[in-house]
Amino acid sequence: MLKVAKFGGSSVADAAQFKKVKKIINSDKSRRVVVVSAAGKRNSSDYKMTDLLYLLQAHLKYGVAADEIIKTLRDRFIGIRDDLKIDYPIEQLFDSFTKELSKETPVDYIVSRGEFFTSHLMAEYLGFSFVDAADVVFFGYDGKLDVEKTYAAIEKAVNDNGKVVMPGFYGSLPNGKIKVMTRGGSDISGALAAAAIKADVYENWTDVSGILMADPRIVKDPKRIVKVTYAELRELRLEGTGELIPTFDEVLELFAAGAMPLIIELKAHGGNQARLAEAVVQRLDSYPGLFCIESFDPRAMSAVRKLRPGIVRGQLSTDFRANPGEADRKSTRLN
Ligand code: ASP
Repeated sequence: MLKVAKFGGSSVADAAQFKKVKKIINSDKSRRVVVVSAAGKRNSSDYKMTDLLYLLQAHLKYGVAADEIIKTLRDRFIGIRDDLKIDYPIEQLFDSFTKELSKETPVDYIVSRGEFFTSHLMAEYLGFSFVDAADVVFFGYDGKLDVEKTYAAIEKAVNDNGKVVMPGFYGSLPNGKIKVMTRGGSDISGALAAAAIKADVYENWTDVSGILMADPRIVKDPKRIVKVTYAELRELRLEGTGELIPTFDEVLELFAAGAMPLIIELKAHGGNQARLAEAVVQRLDSYPGLFCIESFDPRAMSAVRKLRPGIVRGQLSTDFRANPGEADRKSTRLN
């Protein structure tokens, strides 16, 4: 069994989050490939490293002093390193990066350093090898991924090193220059790694159930939006990025080649378990790949069994009996 685990920005935002990641990784030996985003926000008034790096580049471009941004970034990396009590010369690496910066430094290179340094710290903390995405994720000059070359390089890096941490979000052009993906691209890097090594499972550890009425980091226990129309959903973008929230159909299309088995979790709510199960199994009737369905809600699982007894099911466990209404809200999540 081989698993690729991708951790998003909030899951690596500080040392406490790094510790949770280590616990997850250590709890399962098959989690041998870890893909990491740049450290994200620790709280609602904090900054994502990637945003700070874009800001840094804008300052350089227009000749505005950027010392404060550089200091903020530097302090955060050092803070994570010190809190984790690891021995890693992050100052040296970071300073050699900032020393070279100029008006001309390409934006892609600058913003990729968030993932680069965060992954270095993670590799050190986990005791895994660091594999630079620039050496294994390749784009053509047309900006398209060179999938075959990328798969071969990732596979070799994992075979050579055993357990690896790879930064998400970027790769390199044929001339060796860094190229970043669209915002949120670490998800793509994780999927590439999983496909490259024919992983049994690709785990994407950034998880909030449903759509909430307010940011849970600002408002305590915000209500969930139970009904949202397709048109409304299309207006939402993921966390300040240009990314749309994909529909179930779109996700299935992405995996239509069937190369990767899917684990589909049903998040039933407000008594809709039978309807939800029916809609999902009907859609899956025409899906060619391997999949299983799981849920914290036993009623959803029993609906799946009645409708399609042949589908492999998994019952997730929680304190369902103590609090049936809450069953779908409790999951193992990082944040
Ligand atoms: N750090 C990049 C971003 O914020 C990529 C990612 O997190 O996936 O968009």
